Amino acid sequence: MTTPEDHTLLRRAIALAATAREGGDPPFGSLLAAPDGTVLAEAHNTTRTDRDITAHPELKLARWAASELDPATAAETTMYTSCQPCGMCEAVIQQAGLRRVVFALSNDQLLDIRPGSGRLPVPQDGPALLDEVRAVVEGYYR
Ligand SMILES: [Zn+2]
Repeated sequence: MTTPEDHTLLRRAIALAATAREGGDPPFGSLLAAPDGTVLAEAHNTTRTDRDITAHPELKLARWAASELDPATAAETTMYTSCQPCGMCEAVIQQAGLRRVVFALSNDQLLDIRPGSGRLPVPQDGPALLDEVRAVVEGYYR
């Protein structure tokens, strides 16, 4: 459930999406906010201008949170984003330990606007060479 306070911050994320579009990038924007609504960081998509397929705003902000916020602060931080995070960004958001994500447009709604954008999963083969890889990994995590 979203609140009027959430909507204020979501509108800022949507404005950042418009900024991305105006700059020639896909129209996605995001921000991180403290519990009192203070904006901690903002980003917009720069996949085209940076020629970087990972330059999603959610990913950039999750990386920023992981490097700049202590875990307790990250755990109180909310991401507001113009569109629901993709699978890549969702995984990094989880790694960053953020509290909550609030989005405007869902991924399903995005597919309705941008048909044909779904990608097929890349085939993965494995496991293989278990003894060899275990020798490198075992003992690292204690
Ligand atoms: Zn993404």
